[in-house]
Amino acid sequence: VFNFAAGPATLPENVLLKAQSELYNWRGSGMSVMEMSHRGKEFLSIIQKAESDLRSLLNIPSEYSVLFLQGGATTQFASIPLNLCKPDDAVDYVVTGSWSDKAFKEAAKYCKPKSIWSGKSDKYTNIPAFETLDQTPHAKYLHICANETIHGVEFKDYPKPAAENEVLIADMSSNFCSKPVDVSKFGLIYAGAQKNVGPSGVTIAIIRSDLIGNCQPVTPVMLDYKIHADNDSLYNTPPCYGIYMCGLVFEDLLAQGGLNEVEQKNLNKAGILYDAIDGSKGFYRCPVEKSVRSLMNVPFTLAKPELEAEFIKEAAKEKMVQLKGHRSVGGMRASIYNAMPLAGVEKLVAFMADFQARHDA
Ligand code: PLP
Repeated sequence: VFNFAAGPATLPENVLLKAQSELYNWRGSGMSVMEMSHRGKEFLSIIQKAESDLRSLLNIPSEYSVLFLQGGATTQFASIPLNLCKPDDAVDYVVTGSWSDKAFKEAAKYCKPKSIWSGKSDKYTNIPAFETLDQTPHAKYLHICANETIHGVEFKDYPKPAAENEVLIADMSSNFCSKPVDVSKFGLIYAGAQKNVGPSGVTIAIIRSDLIGNCQPVTPVMLDYKIHADNDSLYNTPPCYGIYMCGLVFEDLLAQGGLNEVEQKNLNKAGILYDAIDGSKGFYRCPVEKSVRSLMNVPFTLAKPELEAEFIKEAAKEKMVQLKGHRSVGGMRASIYNAMPLAGVEKLVAFMADFQARHDA
């Protein structure tokens, strides 16, 4: 099937086949990666290569630590204020959708966050003009969600924090490794793996080293970035198999030519789908402002909402699955991450045209 799920999501077929070929016996070790000690030389070589390939892919400067964590991006919503703030510190959140809203609300338990912009009244269909952001003086950080998975809005550029010592933090869960990113613009980038780079269970954090080591005293040991950085992500048992799968995906992205190439493919796929929606004379509609439409998650509705269930059912019959929109917004959503082949998008677009021809009376 072509799987348009938002996450866990489709993975590259060659990566899955490679994992299958070494499932029982990883490179002559006689063990599956699932059976290895996380402190043995075999697994150490796996995690070190995964980190080094990710560093190459994103061109991560040496003063940044790469951490392989657990607990999903949701756990980072708490880890970030706990590590970067004291309880009375001010921080700013740009709320462009459900995920940044959740991050903002969680932060309120550990510091004094302010939502300096919210797209809620427009049903999260836009991104603010940066010059209109009313940033709080002396805020510790400015938090954004680089790509809102549910609403399909994506930052195409990034706001600058107002002050020199303030840092920009981005939740990149749903567009991680989908295009090049200038890591040096950020204090911290974090992402759950289960959309673009692997299975669920691994969360990646890329953090500037000077931001590590100042956590609040109540911070649970598992949320303390310093513990994980000092122990090379091996303080406790990490999600070994997930990290191994991420490593295979990083290898594959490098083999494709790196993130410039990957971005071109993503631009092409998203362009085909948005053109089909916009060219349907209103039969299909994408509510998101054109300039900030996500390359990864494409929400769309039908002019006749009563046909939506039929659309999803017929698409599934044609082996295109998981096209239902998030339960909070309805409609449809096609998630077209790195691993969605062009053929999947072409098949969807052809189906959409055919469905319209049959129902647009
Ligand atoms: N942030 C974004 C942008 C997401 O898309 C998601 C999950 O879909 C999350 C955070 C939460 O991630 P997790 O389920 O890994 O905690």
